[in-house]
Amino acid sequence: MKPTILVLGGGIGGVTVAKQLRNEMGNEDGINLARILVFEKEKSTLFAPSLTWMMVGKRKEEQIRHPMDGIEFGGVEIVYGEIESVDPDTHTVISGGNEYRGDYIVISLGAEKRDKYDLNRFGHNFYTSEGASDFYKELSQFKSGNIAVTVSSLPHTSPVAPYEAALLIEDTIREKGCRDAAEITLYTPENRPMPFANEKISAAVRRLMEEKGIQYRPKHQLKGADENSLSFSDPTKGSAEEAYDLLAYTPKHTCPALLEEAGLTGESGWVEVDSKTLQTPFDKVYAIGDIASLQGHGKPAIPMAGFFAEVQARVVAHNIARRQAGKSPDQTFEASGSYILDQGTTARKVDGRFDSDDLSLSNNSLFRHWEKVLAEKAWFLKHFQS
Ligand SMILES: Cc1cc2nc3c(=O)[nH]c(=O)nc-3n(C[C@H](O)[C@H](O)[C@H](O)COP(=O)(O)OP(=O)(O)OC[C@H]3O[C@@H](n4cnc5c(N)ncnc54)[C@H](O)[C@@H]3O)c2cc1C
Repeated sequence: MKPTILVLGGGIGGVTVAKQLRNEMGNEDGINLARILVFEKEKSTLFAPSLTWMMVGKRKEEQIRHPMDGIEFGGVEIVYGEIESVDPDTHTVISGGNEYRGDYIVISLGAEKRDKYDLNRFGHNFYTSEGASDFYKELSQFKSGNIAVTVSSLPHTSPVAPYEAALLIEDTIREKGCRDAAEITLYTPENRPMPFANEKISAAVRRLMEEKGIQYRPKHQLKGADENSLSFSDPTKGSAEEAYDLLAYTPKHTCPALLEEAGLTGESGWVEVDSKTLQTPFDKVYAIGDIASLQGHGKPAIPMAGFFAEVQARVVAHNIARRQAGKSPDQTFEASGSYILDQGTTARKVDGRFDSDDLSLSNNSLFRHWEKVLAEKAWFLKHFQS
């Protein structure tokens, strides 16, 4: 009997796992040795790393979105609709009132994102395409005032994105000729920039913000908002009211409730998996990407990032193919990778092992910027048929 693999979520992790399974399970067009069902509520998939470009008008929605059905070949089928429940004991998923049973489950549902303090009434959630595009509409009319980039809570996906957003906004308004009439401030509960990295890298990013005249307010926990100001708990003054004219913010991230209901979450509130195999406590049930919390990792947590979702997806798919062929899994996840901090026309790259201090930051260069552009183009070319 053909094995069935249920892939929950068609974002970065889910699409990568489906493609890798297709390649490794012996599927071709016409000969499908495995059934790969991808469960996705949206008809199209968005490449979120490009949202920071969208918020400054460098990308339009159609450039960073692709219809989901572009992955539907070589034994991959999409089940559209909201997943209602998962039973990891019986490998069963309910979606659209129908029950699907598989031999393996790979969960890559990403974090659930919600607005805190009704922030959507006052500003723009740049972690969505709508928020990024609406922010740009206001930025393109902007002449003077205070622009606030606010991290509304921790943890959030892509700890680099708020810094990149502030730098890209700075670049854009300088190009527009109104830099001198603007104040840009980044507020975050973090102690220092990109705390997953070592102190040297944090200090370099902080210097970069200073050079660009971007105000940096760490240890600022958002407590409330109205149409003119944001309230924070402030480490020195106790509390602070900060005025703004234009606001971009990151939403609150939580693990999808259906995974908690399924008994898949641990003390961390996220799906705890073996840090090497990415298997949950349930046999043949794996979790990858933003929802996965790696148990037994040296550092508190590796950042939520698309490149880790991709690496994890490949490891899991490969090991499922091995298990299915009666062989032992022979790949493990290593937290090595790289992250590019773009500034508009140049960029810097953080590279190395994210579960250690063994990380380096490259010099600022045009080449790194184009590396990020190429990664975006490669994403769609590699995974989707047009
Ligand atoms: C602004 C921004 C910039 C970023 N920049 C970078 C970067 O430069 N580099 C980098 O590596 N990463 C970056 N990231 C992070 C990266 O996008 C995420 O880490 C990655 O998308 C996580 O992949 P995932 O598969 O875990 O989840 P997602 O890609 O979020 O996919 C989850 C999928 O599950 C679907 N889903 C959820 N619930 C259900 C349900 N109940 N039923 C059916 N479908 C459901 C969703 O619709 C979605 O398609 C950035 C993210 C943002 C927001």
